[in-house]
Amino acid sequence: CCRLFANPVEQNGTLTGAVLIIMDVTEQERREALRREFAANVSHELKTPLTSILGTAEILRDGLVRPEDVTHFAGNIHREARRLIDLVNDIIRLSRLDEGGAVGQWESISLRQVAQSVMEQLRPAAEQKKVAMALEGDCGLVRGVPQIVEEIIYNLCDNAIAYNREGGSVILTLSQVEGGQRLSVADTGIGIPREAQNRVFERFYRVDKSHSSGGTGLGLSIVKHGAAYLGARVELVSELGKGSSFTLTFPCGNTDC
Ligand code: ADP
Repeated sequence: CCRLFANPVEQNGTLTGAVLIIMDVTEQERREALRREFAANVSHELKTPLTSILGTAEILRDGLVRPEDVTHFAGNIHREARRLIDLVNDIIRLSRLDEGGAVGQWESISLRQVAQSVMEQLRPAAEQKKVAMALEGDCGLVRGVPQIVEEIIYNLCDNAIAYNREGGSVILTLSQVEGGQRLSVADTGIGIPREAQNRVFERFYRVDKSHSSGGTGLGLSIVKHGAAYLGARVELVSELGKGSSFTLTFPCGNTDC
């Protein structure tokens, strides 16, 4: 945890003492290790779609694809390029939150309005998966940065649809609780094993790669960092095979309660 430096003090060539410096480098080293791990993960996550784009472009260039299959292969390139853009955008979002820099103005926000707007944006994805979405209850206004609040709710709902079963449901519930204003997003999906419940908020952690939504692996990190930036709390309750519920609570300090 600590680094020790000993500097001898000499006077006219005679050793008269020593200065001992003890530095706690635990936090510094932890941050550095996290930074290295993140850089390695980013390189890997960028390489995967790039390798796929390159390979597909090469076989198209070399005329190895039958004309009737060109659309399919071009579609693959488009999907992988989309993944790259999503990834880069998520990395930018995360680094802005990390720096605590300019992420937008604080305003009074209606969680109901944001939830409705997110549901509208995700309607096509929900319909495609035959997942029903509903918004229940109500709560007071909260103080926050609108873009961050929307990103948090969007990522939670996006996952609730992606990791759901066909014909399942996603229920958004607003409530005013003793400690503040609350929004919960509950799904009837695959659930998250107990041992993974803390880890899902880590960058690039995925419970099961074969069940990945094709997302960036950064959605819940953005949720966690965004909530911390706003002084809000995120809690997860999940049961494997039954579903998950993420709860976002804005404490009274930054709400109208
Ligand atoms: P991804 O882009 O992979 O969805 P996230 O950071 O949003 O990345 O989520 C991390 C992982 O947590 C996902 O890969 C998935 O395994 C798990 N997860 C997130 N939300 C849910 C959910 N509602 N139901 C089941 N698993 C989930």
